[in-house]
Amino acid sequence: MHQKPNNPLKKLYMLIILNMIVFCAVMYMVILHIDNSAKSRATTTSASSMVVHQDCIFCNIVAGKAPSTIVGESERVMAFKNIRPRAPIHYLIIPKSHSCDMREITDPHIRGEMWEMVRSLALKLEEPQAFNIVVNNGAVAGQSVFHTHWHFVSGKSLYSAGVRL
Ligand code: 5GP
Ligand code: ZN
Repeated sequence: MHQKPNNPLKKLYMLIILNMIVFCAVMYMVILHIDNSAKSRATTTSASSMVVHQDCIFCNIVAGKAPSTIVGESERVMAFKNIRPRAPIHYLIIPKSHSCDMREITDPHIRGEMWEMVRSLALKLEEPQAFNIVVNNGAVAGQSVFHTHWHFVSGKSLYSAGVRL
């Protein structure tokens, strides 16, 4: 029987096609891995539509995985002492569900509870129950923790400390 000589060009094509298949398979696995790890970082529990970011310090405080001194809590909102207080009273008021900043909060219940928390903390203050609410919303505005929060400050006049808006 006459055997066809092996065509080296055909071999090269086969090798290129094989390489492309392997490359596609590896890329598919990499994309799948990235997608899965992103999902595990930001999980939404369908029952309460609570968004939790595992790498977020405030989400960890809400989950009780990081220490904090809680000063107020409602269904959707939490208030705790700032770890580096700038005044005798310096609390942080946060929605329990993760959002990077105020623009992301679309749920009117959360918005309402944030206001309610301000009021309830204010009513516990000594007379004259004076306080400031400061929101650094966005990196350029000075935000350093990207889980929405309001600073509740009292016991020291920010105005006499040189801050004037
Ligand atoms: P921002 O600069 O984003 O407006 O405010 C973030 C605030 O979070 C800072 O005042 C900082 O002191 C406070 N903070 C950062 N990490 C922690 C923490 O682990 N626990 C508490 N209680 N406060 C924190
Ligand atoms: Zn968070």
